[in-house]
Amino acid sequence: MKLFAKCSDCNSEIKIKTFLISNRIELAKSKGEEFEQRCTHCGHRNEIYVDEVIAEKNDSLIFIVGGISFLLAIALTYFFWHYGYIAAVSFAIPLLLSTTISQNQRNSVNLFNGMYFNSKKRLERLKSKSSVN
Ligand SMILES: [Zn+2]
Repeated sequence: MKLFAKCSDCNSEIKIKTFLISNRIELAKSKGEEFEQRCTHCGHRNEIYVDEVIAEKNDSLIFIVGGISFLLAIALTYFFWHYGYIAAVSFAIPLLLSTTISQNQRNSVNLFNGMYFNSKKRLERLKSKSSVN
């Protein structure tokens, strides 16, 4: 799972670096309810409120894990071939791992995006933003 927010100036995605954060409450604890993050695209300093942070699946992680376990499957099959090893078993592992990770990520993304830190404040912020524009 990766976290990002939109730059208020250029609307591009700002990646938010976190470690083992699974919801907005944990994010608020680690970074504060509001934190400053510079946009890597335009350099604008954004005041980001935790409820404006969006979670997304980290596809590269799925590819990396899938790829590594696929290579391991090839190695396993190669080394144990003489013992009557069934290749299908080892090739089921990368498939199973990728599916599990993908599913786990979907769950945590839904969990993160579905729970707000402070819904009332979030709505107030949304209102004030739309009145400015
Ligand atoms: Zn920007």
